[in-house]
Amino acid sequence: MTDQPAIHVSSLVKDYGEVRAVDGIGFSVAPGAVVGLLGGNGAGKTTTISMLLGLLLPTSGKVEVLGHDMTSGDRFAVLPRMNFASPYVNLPYRLTVFQNLKVYGLLYGIRDIGGRIRGLARDLDLEPFLDTPARKLSSGQKTRVTLAKALLNQPEVLLLDEPTASLDPDTGDFVRTYLQDYAQDSGCAILLASHNMQEVERLCSRIMIMKQGRIHAEGTPAELGRRFGRASLEEVFLDIARAPREVAS
Ligand code: ATP
Repeated sequence: MTDQPAIHVSSLVKDYGEVRAVDGIGFSVAPGAVVGLLGGNGAGKTTTISMLLGLLLPTSGKVEVLGHDMTSGDRFAVLPRMNFASPYVNLPYRLTVFQNLKVYGLLYGIRDIGGRIRGLARDLDLEPFLDTPARKLSSGQKTRVTLAKALLNQPEVLLLDEPTASLDPDTGDFVRTYLQDYAQDSGCAILLASHNMQEVERLCSRIMIMKQGRIHAEGTPAELGRRFGRASLEEVFLDIARAPREVAS
C-alpha cells in the first residue's frame, strides 16, 4: 500500500443555483479503509459522491481519486479502477442478471467476464436467478446484483450508497461481512453512505456526519460517542440532526 490517499477532497463546494449543497468540505480515505458518510436527508452526501465519480463538477475545490483530478479529463484514467453501487439506480429491466453483468463487464473491458460473473454469483448467492430478467427480481435480489456489478472490475475505490437497503437481516449481515473482507483483502477504499447506524458502526473505522453541506463531526464511532457523551452512534446522529439549523449569514 502507498501513503497516497485513495480519495482526497479539499475545500469542496457545490452550489445548485442559490442552494449551497456542499459547503467547503475536506477529507481523505486511505487504501483499505472503510469510511462512513452520514447525514440527514439533504445533507449533501449524494452530491459529494457524484463529484467523486466525476458526474458533477464542483463549484470550487479539489477532488482526487487515486491521485487523479476528477474535475478534469484525467478522470477517465481512474474510472476503470473505481465503482459505485446504489440500490436506487435501476438495471436495464429486460436483460437477465447474467446479461446485465456481462454488459457492464464489457464496458469495463474485463477479461474472462463469464468466470468473473460466476465467481461473484457464487459469492453473492445470485446463481439461482442468473437467467432471470432484472424486472422479475425482488428489491433484495436487485441490491445484490447491483453490488456484483460494482465489484466486477475489482475496484480500488468503491462508493456505496446504502448498499444493504432492502436486504433481510441475514443477507444484510452476509453482505457487510463480504464488504469488510473485500476491503481488507484487496486494499479497496470504501466510502459508505448509509442511514443504518449499526452497519456504519460495524464497518467503518471512521465516520463523517454531514449537515447542511458541512462535516459537523468526524472520528471513530467510540470517539464520537465520547465527544457527544452518548452511548450509541444513533444518539450522536440525533443530537446533530436535531440541533437548531444554522442560518446562512
Ligand atoms: P438524502 O439522504 O435525502 O439522499 P443527501 O445527503 O444525499 O440526502 P443531496 O441529494 O446531496 O443530499 O442534496 C443536498 C442539497 O442539494 C439539498 O438541499 C437538495 O435539495 C439540493 N439538491 C440536490 N440535487 C439538486 C439539484 N439537482 N438541483 C437543485 N438542488 C439540488
